[in-house]
This record gives sequence, structure tokens and C-alpha cells, in this order.
Amino acid sequence: MTYTIAVRALCEFTAKQGDLDLRFTPSPSAQEGVQGHAVVAARRGDGYRSEVSLSGQWQDLHVRGRADGYDEQENLIEEVKTHRGRADAIPDNHRHLHWAQLRVYGHLMCEQRNMDSVKLALVYYDIGSGVETVLRETRARDWLRAHFTGLCERFSSWAASEAAQRAARNAALAGLRFPHADFRPGQRELAENIYRANASGRCLLAQAPTGIGKTVGSLFPVLKAMPGQGLDKVFFLAAKTPGRRLALDGAATLCQGAGVPLRVLELTARDKACEHPDKACHGDACPLAKGFYDRLPAARAAAAQVMVLDREAVRQVALAHEVCPYYLGSEMARWSDLIVGDYNYYFDGGAMLYALAQNNGWKASVLVDEAHNLVGRARSMYSAELDRALLRLARANAPPAVKKALERVGRAWTALDKSAPSPYQLLESIPSKLVDALQDAASAVNEHLAAFPGPLDPDLQRFHFDALQFARLAESFGPHSLCDLTRDADRPTLRDSTICIRNVVPGPFLGPRFAAAHSSTLFSATLGAWHYCRDTLGLPENTAWVEVASPFHASQLEVHVARGISTRYQARAASIQPIAELIARQYRERPGNYLAFFSSFDYMDKVANALDAVDGAVPAWRQERRMSEHERQGFIDRFTPGGAGIGFAVLGGAFGEGVDLPGDRLIGAFVATLGLPQVNPVNEQLRERMQALFGAGYDYTYLYPGIQKVVQAAGRVIRTEQDRGVVWLIDDRFAQPGIRALMPAWWELDARPLR
Ligand code: SF4
Repeated sequence: MTYTIAVRALCEFTAKQGDLDLRFTPSPSAQEGVQGHAVVAARRGDGYRSEVSLSGQWQDLHVRGRADGYDEQENLIEEVKTHRGRADAIPDNHRHLHWAQLRVYGHLMCEQRNMDSVKLALVYYDIGSGVETVLRETRARDWLRAHFTGLCERFSSWAASEAAQRAARNAALAGLRFPHADFRPGQRELAENIYRANASGRCLLAQAPTGIGKTVGSLFPVLKAMPGQGLDKVFFLAAKTPGRRLALDGAATLCQGAGVPLRVLELTARDKACEHPDKACHGDACPLAKGFYDRLPAARAAAAQVMVLDREAVRQVALAHEVCPYYLGSEMARWSDLIVGDYNYYFDGGAMLYALAQNNGWKASVLVDEAHNLVGRARSMYSAELDRALLRLARANAPPAVKKALERVGRAWTALDKSAPSPYQLLESIPSKLVDALQDAASAVNEHLAAFPGPLDPDLQRFHFDALQFARLAESFGPHSLCDLTRDADRPTLRDSTICIRNVVPGPFLGPRFAAAHSSTLFSATLGAWHYCRDTLGLPENTAWVEVASPFHASQLEVHVARGISTRYQARAASIQPIAELIARQYRERPGNYLAFFSSFDYMDKVANALDAVDGAVPAWRQERRMSEHERQGFIDRFTPGGAGIGFAVLGGAFGEGVDLPGDRLIGAFVATLGLPQVNPVNEQLRERMQALFGAGYDYTYLYPGIQKVVQAAGRVIRTEQDRGVVWLIDDRFAQPGIRALMPAWWELDARPLR
């Protein structure tokens, strides 16, 4: 049975040794890397070929890859690595790996061209200075073959067990049965659509209501499609921890009872997985980084035996083998079938799963849970902010050479400030002089780190990371983003501005991610208008759309529109007393647990105070700003079965979604306002850009995101087919047909005048 592996993956598996060393070695951005390779190639002569595909076989192992360059006249293969700073600061284990790769290319080339020897050159190209540091050797064909054979031998037993595991996995998945006697209403429709999308390699947007069992309903068809479509991996991406837990439990339900050998991995963020948060990730500081690669093979072999590697299971294996749990988790992403993690592992600028899929040629299917969060999350991934106050702090403690560079940043910033004196100013283009100065400052920091490895001053480090992100996004700036300068109204001096690259439409960044996946399914109960999702997320034109019918009936939920109340900004003050009276009346008529949602803490507090005055006997508790996890749980725990009271919360906040209070733990909700984002200069710029790009400025900026929040909040009430409840939509505009059309089809709105 043939097992195919990329040259890089083969070398990473076999040639890495010694310590994990992630001392801050500033690496070039992906774009800089591509540009660096192009510069080196352009410097070579006519006979030079770039990106030379090579492959070879060792027993059942098929090894393939692309050498960076080959000069036929010189018989010279080059492997180009871009870096910043001094070449001799590149850690030994990286250099060792680079040589291993180059020598495998040397072997493949000798075999392909039947040559007795080949020259090899490892080229380190410094992005900052443009200088090449070239290390050379000449190797005989026999030597290279022995090197290649050694690597393959070390990998072969692993490869054999991987191939066997995959064959067993696929055989079991082909016969996978749905784990329950029957599908829930709507679940089959969702599953069939996802299966079809995977069979045809298309993307799918699925609006599927709460209560149909979306997690199992999405995992089952993808796993079922896995053998037939030759899928290597499934990525289940969720915005929040509970969604990831549901996926892990769903996978266990589907596979463990049926004896399917599916390796499931939960990816955990570094700050949550780290065992030594006070240490740095290198062997001199952290005991779990010391000798990491020497102990990794045993840890990896042990981890591969655990079918569901959730956070705790990864930790246990890692500690038993004295390796870092976070980096063991990252390693296991290569060897797992279903990987469960946050959106950022596939969608952000340096996403690990996307990079692994690209480097290893994986065929992957992507499931995006609660996908209505993706626009907002992706915008923040592709935005960057520079704060003048932080620049001042960074400069105060910077070493002399860096300080000078930061002063140049300050001068460029001041010039920009003078040209944009208003409190909020959209900049026509990226401020190129400021970006040049930021890049020089980043180089100065890198030079400093190369000369004095060690921790940076925390303020300098924060500014440095902000500057790198800003400079990186400046390279790809386009109509999808805005660049603006804001002055804090409380600090209106020219010195205190903030400069932002603000992504508006993440589609141009996400589009290639969807294109690279075999199929992507985005599902949520509140996707809203499909063209809004397609346009903002950059989904392919042929993306399919399904709206799954709800298992709930109109008889389960009374939906009232409080038509006599306006929550428009100018009418807010006048709305406080009527809303408090409405809540008190509903509570008197039907005592029980309710949630009341408002667009801001201020509005929420005013109505809660008014309710207290109207009827001080109604138990009430409020969401606070910046609640800890423990405090949030305390808020939720007050919704006891058979209990009664009003929990006041903010729309779009911690309790507006992902809260599951079935039965009489929640019997009703009040939603005041349409959830529209605040009208302010930034949102108005967003509206203009959305108008220019899609001809739907108001809808895409205000209406759709607002109604999504409303439907999510109201969706807390009915969680099962046994639940009964009431929702009050407080604003006369909820009765408008255009807004009604954005609500779940199974709701029957009662828009009679307020009693
Ligand atoms: S345990 Fe923490 S400090 Fe140590 S290598 Fe892992 S992430 Fe880094």
C-alpha cells in the first residue's frame, strides 16, 4: 500500500532533533517570502529553473516535493530560505532541517537525471538587506541515496501504521451508520445537503435552526463522504469552546460505539495549553522545550493510540513524555483525521491548518459552526491598529538604535496627524512614509534581537507586533479595507491618534481558503441573507444554500411586537418607562425566568432601574461589564428550573447566544432595539464602502448584523420540542415586512397594538 509524503514532512518527521526553540526569531511574512524567492531567482542566469518538481519511491513510500531552483549548467540545486537579521542566528535545528530537505532533493535529482553527483546550495536570503548567505557542498549519488534511505527507513514503520490506520478508518467509515434510531426533523435534510456538497466539491451555506442536532448532522455526512472522496482531513471550526466540546462529543458518539478508528484532535490555544506561562519556548527556559524533538517520537506514538485527543488527553500524554502539550497538539494535527479548533486555525493570516494543508497537499473538508460569527472574527484577523500612546511607551524603553527608528516613526506620524486634524479622518491611501518608517523600525528591532537575543521590553514588543501586522496588511491593502485615523475625544491633542487598517470585507482573504478546501460548509441558525454571507465571506459563485425547516411550531412561541414603543435613539428616554411596565405586566401574568436584552449597558441599567420602581418585587439580575467566566456562570445559574426573575443582558454580548436554558429555565425574552450597530463615523464609512461594493450599504452594515443578534437572543427561549415561551420584540419597526422577512419562518408575529 503506497503512502505519499512531502519532502518537507518527511524531513520534519525524521530530521528534527534537540530542543524546541521558538525564541523570537522574526520571520518574514508569507508575501515577503514569495518576494524573496523571486528576487533570488531573478539574480540567477538563463539556465536556472525555479520550482522544480521532483519525486521518488522507496519501497511503498512515495516522496514528492519542489526544489526551489536548479542550475543545469552548474548542476546545482538551491534551497532558498528567507529570514531577517543575522544568518548565524538561525537555530541549529532549523538549519539541520534545511540541509536534510536539500539533500533529499539532491537524491531525487540524481536518480531522475542519472547523475553521479550534484552540487547543493543552501541560500539564506535576508529580506531586510537583500544579502544572500550561501552554504555549499557537493554530494555523490551514493551518499545521497544512503541519506534518503536512512530517512525513509526511520519513517517507514510509522508510514506503514499510518497507511493501515487510514485503510481501517476508510473501511469503517464506508459502513458508518447514523448512531440514533432516526434523524431528528430537519437533521436528515441538513445531512443530505452536506453529503451532496462534499460529493460535488462545492461550498454550502446552511441555515439550520437550533434543536435539530446540527453537530452530529454535519459530522455524519462528512465522515461518510471521507472514503469516497479521498478526504485526508476534516476540520471542524467553532467560534467558542462549547461548540468545540459538542463536536468532540459528536465524534465520539458517531465513531466510538461503531468502532471506527478515527483520530480526533482538539486544538487548544497556547495560553490555555501552556504548562509554564512564565517561561519562554526554548530549551534554556522551559523544561518541556528542552530535548523536545528527542522525546517527540515516543510522545507522538503514544498520542496516536488515543482516539479522542481532547485538551486533557493531549496534556496527559505530553506530561507523561515531558514534552510541551501545546506543541505536541500542533504536531498531532498532522496525524489526526478530524481536527476541532477555533476559526483562526484555518482562516487567519498565519493559520496553521491552512499552511499544513497547503504544504502537504491535503484534501480537506471544512465545517464552520455558528458561521454568523465568521464575518466579525475574520475582520479582526485582517485589521491592525497603531496607538500613538503605545509608540511613546515603546520608545521610552527602547535601546538606542531602535529608539532612533521609532523617532522616525513618530515624525512620520506627526506629519500625518497635521494633514488629518479632524477627530475622525478616512485616509485616501495607506500612509506610505509611515509604513516605510515602521518597516525600518521593525528591522532595527530585528537587528537588535539578532545581536542581543532575549526578551524585549513588553511595551516595545507590543508595538513591534502591532507594527508588523500593520505593515503586513499594508501590503495587501485594497477596497476590502479602510485606513483611518481617529483621535480620542477625551484626548484631542495631535499626539494621541490611532491609525487603523480596518477590514470591511474579509472575502478577499477568506476566498482562497475556501478555494483550497475540497468543500466547506458554513452553518448557523442565523446566517441571514445568503448573498450577504457570500459577498462578505468571499464564497465561490456556485456555493449552494439550504434553509432547513425548524422542528418547532408556531404554537410553541408567542412572538409579540410592541408596536407602540420606539427604541430609536431619539426616543430612547421616552421608551424606558413603557418597557419597564411591559416587563412587569408580562411577569405578573406569567411568572418565570426571562431574559431582557438591550443595545447598551446604559439603556439596560435605565430600564432595570425603572422596573425596580414599577415593581420592586420582581427579582432581577444584571450583566456587568467584563464579567469573569465564574461570574458569567453565576448569572446563568440563577435561571433555575421552576425559578422566576428577569436577567438583564446586552444584545450581542455574552448571553445573547450560546446559552442553553431548556424547559422552564427560560420561558421568555424581551428584545429592545433592532440590534443595529451604532451610527458613528466608522460605521458610516463601512456603510459607504458596502454601498460602493455591493449596492447594499445600510443592509450589510446595520440591518443584517442587527437582526442576526435579535434572532440569536430570541432563540434562547425555545430549545426543545417540549419548550413553550414568549418573545417580545420591542420596537414598531419589527412589524415592517422587510424586517419580518429576516426572522425565522416558523415564528408567527402578533403585531397588534400594545395592550
Ligand atoms: S510549556 Fe509553555 S513555555 Fe514551555 S514550550 Fe510549551 S508553550 Fe512554551
